[in-house]
Amino acid sequence: MNSESTPSLKLRISQKAETILRSGHPWLLSDSIREQSRPGTMGELAIIYDRKDRFLGMGLFDPEGPICVRMLRTGKPQKLDRAWWQQHLTAALDRRRNLFDAQTNGYRLCNGESDGWPGLVLDRYDSTLVLKIYTTVWLPRLNEVVELIAEQVPHERLILRLSRNIQDQALPFTEGQILRGAAPLEPVVFLESGIRFEIDGVRGQKTGFYLDQRENRRLVESFSQGRRVLNAFSFSGGFSLYAARGGAVSVTDLDISPHALTAANRNFALNLHDPTISRCLHESVKTDAFDWLNSTATSSRSFDLIILDPPSLARREFERTQAIRAYGRLARNAIKLLRPKGILVACSCSAHVSTSEFLDSVRNAATQSGRPFMELQTTGHAADHPATFPEANYLKAIYLCF
Ligand code: SAH
Repeated sequence: MNSESTPSLKLRISQKAETILRSGHPWLLSDSIREQSRPGTMGELAIIYDRKDRFLGMGLFDPEGPICVRMLRTGKPQKLDRAWWQQHLTAALDRRRNLFDAQTNGYRLCNGESDGWPGLVLDRYDSTLVLKIYTTVWLPRLNEVVELIAEQVPHERLILRLSRNIQDQALPFTEGQILRGAAPLEPVVFLESGIRFEIDGVRGQKTGFYLDQRENRRLVESFSQGRRVLNAFSFSGGFSLYAARGGAVSVTDLDISPHALTAANRNFALNLHDPTISRCLHESVKTDAFDWLNSTATSSRSFDLIILDPPSLARREFERTQAIRAYGRLARNAIKLLRPKGILVACSCSAHVSTSEFLDSVRNAATQSGRPFMELQTTGHAADHPATFPEANYLKAIYLCF
């Protein structure tokens, strides 16, 4: 893509950065540049050389951000022509080739850096594709990216989503723009493990659904038979539908967003043909789940399975300590509501809280409860959401039985 007529942008970088890039990390930080052949433009290809002037890798240049190059390739030099880009997309698609059967037509086709497409995510919801861009380095190439996708992934429409931090800079593109096909006249419905869900691909959170929680939802289904379930931070009821299909007696959704609760109700309505789902009592409560758990912990309400899946509690490094405490508090209050043999499923999507920090906060809460408990399992990233470097490793969950 992009034949650049000006001489290529060449960078020489610090020894430390060299080691980091060679180890496969996809970001070059701007303070690691020792020499730059000329000022670079947004999204142009930068070629990186090591101290001995050997080719080290190539990536997309960002003259403004703290991450000045997002790596596309390290190792041997290669021309990044159209055939290379085509192959680069094929490689991401191939990684999903046999992961899903016809019962699941919503999943991630490309997961940013970890698939070699830094800051670019492509999700499939049946015949609707949602392309989400987290950095402006893609903007000069966006039309070509869309062409590549069109060549390889059949679809009815392609929706563009822009992360909040770039929405103002993304001209001539707009958040929610339909890049190919027609705008959906009704909500897009897709299948996950045979359950029907609808999404708002144009305005919904993330790209419309939390596809990253599919494997945890499947586990929750397997634990739900005969249980009264509390789904805190329910969003559109992903966990709730699986719990219902797994034979839960009742499911209570908590979310602060009325839209999320309405979406959950609609998703239940879409699946009433399933007798197990239709038998499950479904209740929604619009509330601040932190407060609700705090105040309900002293009441007589109780549950047999509680899912805690709050939004990221540490979006910045300085929020880390506070977030760890909040995870502990949530777990402590939830445990008070658990009946004997009850199961707690606690999740974290905070990239700034490490796996061990999160798991320890929940385990400590369990120990402090004074109740005997058993750890059933911990989980991380699913195969369609690979995480190949520390900063990408955000999702963790722990299952405890009391
Ligand atoms: N478990 C969901 C995803 C949860 S995303 C799934 O599998 O699809 C986090 C959700 O928490 C969002 O729906 C958001 O509206 C909700 N939320 C954010 N802050 C909240 C709060 N203080 N109390 C309750 N819900 C909250």
